[in-house]
Amino acid sequence: MSYNSIVMSVKFQAVRGTHDLLPDQTAHFQQLEARARALFGQFGFHEIRTPTFEALELFHRSLGETTDIVEKEMYVFEDRGGRKLALRPEGTAGVVRAFIEHHLAQTNPVCKLFYIGPMFRAERPQAGRYREFWQIGAEYFGNPYPEADAELLLMVQTLYRALGLTDVQFKLNSLGDATCRPVYRRALTDYLEAEKPGLCEDCVRRMAKNPFRILDCKIDGPRLKNLPTIDSFWCGDCRIHFKAVTSLLEKAGGQYVFTPRLVRGLDYYTRTVFEVSTSSLGAQDPPSSASKEEGLASKQERSQGALAAGGRYDTLVKQIGGPDVPALGFALGSERTLDALKAAKTQPAASRGVLVFVAAQGEETVPAAFQLLQELRSNPQLGERHISVEGGFFQKKLGAQLTLADRLDARYCVIMGQDELEKGEITFRSLKESTQTRIPRQKLISHLLDVIPAEAGIQP
Ligand code: AMP
Repeated sequence: MSYNSIVMSVKFQAVRGTHDLLPDQTAHFQQLEARARALFGQFGFHEIRTPTFEALELFHRSLGETTDIVEKEMYVFEDRGGRKLALRPEGTAGVVRAFIEHHLAQTNPVCKLFYIGPMFRAERPQAGRYREFWQIGAEYFGNPYPEADAELLLMVQTLYRALGLTDVQFKLNSLGDATCRPVYRRALTDYLEAEKPGLCEDCVRRMAKNPFRILDCKIDGPRLKNLPTIDSFWCGDCRIHFKAVTSLLEKAGGQYVFTPRLVRGLDYYTRTVFEVSTSSLGAQDPPSSASKEEGLASKQERSQGALAAGGRYDTLVKQIGGPDVPALGFALGSERTLDALKAAKTQPAASRGVLVFVAAQGEETVPAAFQLLQELRSNPQLGERHISVEGGFFQKKLGAQLTLADRLDARYCVIMGQDELEKGEITFRSLKESTQTRIPRQKLISHLLDVIPAEAGIQP
């Protein structure tokens, strides 16, 4: 086989761990994003869009050198100028960088930002775990008070409630601060010293660098039931802060499950951390693109129940060269959230709205039909109602055009024939009812607005 025929026979596929979002799926993504945008707006958050890649050092400094993401999951590359860059594995670092770079602390005493975009992690592909996935997140700068923590949690809870997902758990903990966390760290390390011979390889490594992650370890975590937890070590201020957050949540009808063993994978959190999970997402089948050489996780490991996570990071802005501004934030996984909605059968139907099909009969009518097509497509009132218009197959026989309209599930068909052209009319056909009528061409738009109610169109 020649080189060319080998190349021609290669079947391209989306790179392992990435996935295409086809129109049926993007409709669901749009609905989720629209809900989030509207709600975040009500909470005073404004959208920010940052680049998908940043200086590698930014992630090292913000996420911490010993986190799983930095140690093994980043897509790192060198550009042509020899700069070390990385595809963003999460959104906070870039938003914080932009917050500092644009001096947003000076211009916005309270700065609330949200983002929607793809993130990249070289993780083992599994059901619900991709190498490129979408997150919707929010960051709140400049409020050190527990009200901000409660507000953020309530915003997330309101979103999931609005989406119709009821089987959701909000795990809440406080990781303490610079006063109490080191004391806890020492106690934990002392305890683990005695357990060292039985620890898994990862935990032995974590012991020196990041012992908190041992609580999180799938192997050692459940085995070491008596590990001391942070709540017995909280300093006075951290205790007061946590109590205030929970009491605000209770008063506002928010939910939470105090989970003292909840730690987060990233180093930058201080005090409040939370995780949103659901049992709707049980163990799922692996995606077909996952291959054996990647080593599939066990069925139990494959269960990806976490939908969203977040917390407070009061020292991060300063840590990466900005002013001493407290902050907090969260991110939800869009794929996971939509999977959960699907599993719980609460996913709203993806509506494509109302389709109007323009057909022509006879060659002389083509220019007029084409003009009509463009006129309908550029009409702002029809646009506002998300009425879409298809056509442009005027060279086909009328019967074939009507069959196509049917296959496209068009609601109405507008036919421009020779007789219609001469009389300044069009034939307006309802494909569902199989009825048709002649109307003056100039009345077409008002007729469409009459027959298609405003709520029938797509509501993105
Ligand atoms: P994290 O930034 O790790 O706290 O993740 C926040 C949320 O993003 C998780 O709860 C998941 O819903 C989602 N997520 C994280 N990693 C992935 C991934 N590899 N594939 C799909 N979703 C992910």
